Amino acid sequence: MYVHSDCTSRIVSAALEYNTGCNSGSVQDLFIPGSFITEETYQQLAKETLEELDWVLDVFEVRNLSSQSSSSTPNHAFLEERELCKTFKIPIDSLITYMMTLEDHYHADVAYHNSLHAADVTQSTHVLLSTPALDAVFTDLEILAALFAAAIHDVDHPGVSNQFLINTNSELALMYNDESVLENHHLAVGFKLLQEENCDIFQNLTKRQRQTMRKMVIDMVLATDMSKHMSLLADLKTMVETKKVTSSGVLLLDNYTDRIQVLRNMVHCADLSNPTKPLELYRQWTDRILEEFFRQGDKERERGMEISPMCDKHTASVEKSQVGFIDYIVHPLWETWADLVHPDAQDILDTLEDNRDWYQGMIPQSPSPPPDDPDKDEESCIDKFQFELTLEEEAEESDKDRNSGIEEDEGPLQTPDILEQHPDIEEDMSTQEGAVEQTDDSSDNTSPVES
Ligand SMILES: [Zn+2]
Repeated sequence: MYVHSDCTSRIVSAALEYNTGCNSGSVQDLFIPGSFITEETYQQLAKETLEELDWVLDVFEVRNLSSQSSSSTPNHAFLEERELCKTFKIPIDSLITYMMTLEDHYHADVAYHNSLHAADVTQSTHVLLSTPALDAVFTDLEILAALFAAAIHDVDHPGVSNQFLINTNSELALMYNDESVLENHHLAVGFKLLQEENCDIFQNLTKRQRQTMRKMVIDMVLATDMSKHMSLLADLKTMVETKKVTSSGVLLLDNYTDRIQVLRNMVHCADLSNPTKPLELYRQWTDRILEEFFRQGDKERERGMEISPMCDKHTASVEKSQVGFIDYIVHPLWETWADLVHPDAQDILDTLEDNRDWYQGMIPQSPSPPPDDPDKDEESCIDKFQFELTLEEEAEESDKDRNSGIEEDEGPLQTPDILEQHPDIEEDMSTQEGAVEQTDDSSDNTSPVES
């Protein structure tokens, strides 16, 4: 049984948290166990949370304000969608119970992939859904699916990467045959929890709606696997090149395939949105991810394993890795997203570029590079990007490229394991100047990159 025995009292306290500052009534008004939060309170909450509809929402501050729980933020994103709850007849007590149960299944002792990250990604998804260029583009069911996907997308994350789970022959890797191990697990847990007592927030959806929702959520969460990044981005670029907008400047996405493609990229963008946030927030996220990486590195050291990129606390270069992460992964993605919703994301892109320059400026000057090796700094940076190529992904990607008519003579590479700590990301460096040459894609299992 996942639901704690003190669940009821926690729900009451959560209801009180929501009500912070509005002084509108007693506990009974807010929540009577077994019944719903009153309409009045709900309206009040919706009003308050609307004020948080902002990219710069400081989720760290939200956590500080709320005495015990950070789950209020993903809840807020849901609650804001007042019409959604009405449309799909989501009982508010089920919503709260589910959200608290979900939060319980995020690991509070994991530095980055905890409920705060889930709250941040849900909030960010919510903001992206509200962008003017996508006004009225998505159905209510699609919006509900995107928010739900964001809320569950990292649940029960153990704080180590897919590659670590695979390399250590973990139960999870065995269960999912090494394929998107964590993402499959997050989905399984997120859906399983709907079966807990009073947790079925989708109880009033039709069978058809439930099926469609589930399909979309699976699609979006699997797309958060960083090994899918390059193909997602390639598809998004193709979409941008052929995009159509209505006279009012809203994107025309008249079929399901296009809409789900935008949604899976949207959740992926939200998942990679730390460097687009105000610097002080971004830096806090960076501290957290590094703490998680270094803990994994310590485990690898203890076990005598090779230490994953960025996970060695003795050698990691924080600033360089963030600049590389932005240059190779985050900026290309956000730049494409910004093209898609132009000009809505211009501010986000500006912040990203400012943050990149800040980290660039923070890169410690090499005291005196050895005269025989002036490129040492650059090389050590590139070393951080452990490019590896697996046959399976190579074949998959080549097929995709052939099918989509993309002219590329190189296969995908695995790239920097930087923020999300997925060492198997596919990367095509051919478009990035001054980067690295790729080896012939006929090579075997792994093909190290030549620099
Ligand atoms: Zn995530």
